[in-house]
Amino acid sequence: MGIRRGELKDLNPSDIALLGIPFDENSSYSRGPAKAPELIIEAIESDSANFYTENLTDLNKHPRVKWCGNAALSDYFSIEKPIQEILDKNAIPFSLGGDHSMTYPIMKAMATKYPNLQIIQFDAHGDLYDELDGNVHSHACPFARIMENGLVKNLTQIGIRTMTDHQKEQADRFGVQVIEMKDWSAEINLIFDDPVYVTFDMDVLDPAFAPGVSHHEPGGLSTREALGMIQKLNANIVGCDVVEYNPTRDINGMTAMVSAKIVKELLAKLV
Ligand code: MN
Ligand code: MN
Repeated sequence: MGIRRGELKDLNPSDIALLGIPFDENSSYSRGPAKAPELIIEAIESDSANFYTENLTDLNKHPRVKWCGNAALSDYFSIEKPIQEILDKNAIPFSLGGDHSMTYPIMKAMATKYPNLQIIQFDAHGDLYDELDGNVHSHACPFARIMENGLVKNLTQIGIRTMTDHQKEQADRFGVQVIEMKDWSAEINLIFDDPVYVTFDMDVLDPAFAPGVSHHEPGGLSTREALGMIQKLNANIVGCDVVEYNPTRDINGMTAMVSAKIVKELLAKLV
């Protein structure tokens, strides 16, 4: 029983490559997400649950879903290379973080293949700072870098509840569609015409549901509400990442299981 193991060099077209990005050097407050990827896979394979998604996709040894292990990284920008390798095989990258800064180098690779990419970002934070603590690659900045480099057609953020004047200016400047948590409702329907990349920061969930994150920001989505948003996404999803699970802040591996559930339901959209 388990998720099939694979190697990047052996991927087939339309495979979904689960890849660990053990990188948290751009975290501003607390390290830990680098240890997350294997723990999320372990949670998916836990004997306490089965391998089915809620739409009855059986992920046990699913022929198209392959855990490719952790990427071998030399530095921050080396994250781009394995993603490029996956895209060169016409496979779909599904990265397990890692802190949120990783989405910028990932998007550098994605942009070469998908010139009209649209991003959906689930997050308590906009991550649009021009810089934080003097670091332009902080996990608080990746979407500023992505937008100013024109890597995607547009960005839609869901669950934001930490807006500042500066980030409001940045969002306006980049034409970001921000659905703040205070304005969120389960009835919101998002329509995407072009290929979509989904980036899911675990702190979009209320810390009551997902305590294993670096930044506890109250007033977020319930796990059920987030799953509902994922399940009704009507989009051609060409890549995903689930980031910011921090096992050093977790309680009894609860947030590992929540991360695993989010990954499983996103996989159900991809296979
Ligand atoms: Mn984030
Ligand atoms: Mn966040």
